[in-house]
Amino acid sequence: MTDTAPGRVPGLDTFIAGLPKAELHVHHVGSASPRIVAELAARHRDSRVPSDPAALAEYFTFRDFAHFIDVYLSVVDLIRDAEDVRLLTFEVARDMARQNIRYAELTVTPYSSTNRGIPDRAFVEAIEDARKAAESELGVVLRWCFDIPGEAGLASAEETARIATELRPEGLVSFGLGGPEIGVPRPQFKPYFDRARAIGLHSVPHAGETTGPETVWDAINLLGAERIGHGTSSVQDPRLLEHLAEHRIALEVCPTSNIATRAVRTLEEHPLRQMVEAGVLVTINSDDPPMFSTDLNNEYAIAARLLDLDAAGVAGLAKNAVEASFLDTPGKARLTAEIDAYTAAWR
Ligand SMILES: [Zn+2]
Repeated sequence: MTDTAPGRVPGLDTFIAGLPKAELHVHHVGSASPRIVAELAARHRDSRVPSDPAALAEYFTFRDFAHFIDVYLSVVDLIRDAEDVRLLTFEVARDMARQNIRYAELTVTPYSSTNRGIPDRAFVEAIEDARKAAESELGVVLRWCFDIPGEAGLASAEETARIATELRPEGLVSFGLGGPEIGVPRPQFKPYFDRARAIGLHSVPHAGETTGPETVWDAINLLGAERIGHGTSSVQDPRLLEHLAEHRIALEVCPTSNIATRAVRTLEEHPLRQMVEAGVLVTINSDDPPMFSTDLNNEYAIAARLLDLDAAGVAGLAKNAVEASFLDTPGKARLTAEIDAYTAAWR
């Protein structure tokens, strides 16, 4: 897509690319770009993932959702030791820096790594080491959301809560829940969220992506959700929209992901505008960007088109993400001021 595509504000893509941004819903392994995967594959020559960039580009061209899952799992298989974890994390931050993402709450699934034999302490040290390097060398501030892979059952919930509470890394700010919603009821995860919240972690479960608004209510009432991952089906329940707006429970909207997973049929039918018109605090995110052939800048461009926004409107979305983040107050003020200064200079 270019600036000259119909219905687009000229120069808006350039504005978005330079805009300082925060991202609140983006997955660790799901952020492995072909460049990063090539580096990991080169470390593990026995893997079936090609390490040559041209072959890898072909490998990353998804035929359908089953193929996407297959590729995703083959990337998971490349994360075998602490050095892989460190490399992945730092290189994800490098891709973020290139998009002027200044702050990101990265959703990390420790269970996928500890379950594959990486010791919990080595895992935590690797991400923390990468976090510090990303901040000093790239100017990207990373924070962690440790999430339960719902499909792996309560053993994974126990392990995730244990690592979060026992090892509690400095960068950890929140606790999440991902994986399929259908057949994986949310109430069973309450005790694990209770433990995480008891040590001061924020609650940010995925909800209402592939199920109805009742899952979002469960996330709020049982899991203490302070933000909702996706929450696309919230628009089916006006009372829920009112509740989200009143309590400033932000939605982490990922437009391209919603189409790829068929949570929403087409971009034109995306409920983003309805959420905004109901007064809900909406943030724009990329979820698993290379896997969905997108990045945060592209998601902002899509949101701008769906909401008919100009540069100031897009800056407003960036400020929403800062407001809904778990940055401390001075951190929020600094990033908001950066967004304002950039926007003022643009005019
Ligand atoms: Zn997600």
